[in-house]
Amino acid sequence: MDPCIFCRIASGELKTDFVYADEFAVAFRDIQPQAPLHVLLIPRTHVASLAEAGDEPLLGHLLAAAARTAATLGLTDYRVVINTGPQAGQSVFHLHLHILGGRTMAWPPG
Ligand code: 5GP
Ligand code: ZN
Repeated sequence: MDPCIFCRIASGELKTDFVYADEFAVAFRDIQPQAPLHVLLIPRTHVASLAEAGDEPLLGHLLAAAARTAATLGLTDYRVVINTGPQAGQSVFHLHLHILGGRTMAWPPG
């Protein structure tokens, strides 16, 4: 059994409703939403973090897919966040883009 929770979600082993899916990425709702709309977009392949993602076409694809996911959700204003490393708040070590929207966002982030 794959120990990576997001690999298990991407493969379909853990039943999850995808709000967006394509050949390279899937998006689903965060289990602990930090905004009225809070979705995680992940590559189907395992990449531990942004720091270890050398695949530039994949990274470009993920950003474009994040915009498509936000549009699918009806968001015009939203924030995309990639926590990288424990000190930055990364707790799941499979690259994921947080897409947050549906409320006013503060800056700087905490
Ligand atoms: P990080 O803290 O690594 O930037 O973000 C990980 C996110 O994954 C957190 O917002 C957390 O709520 C979410 N998360 C962790 N486990 C699961 C899960 O099993 N299902 C879903 N949908 N979200 C998860
Ligand atoms: Zn993984």
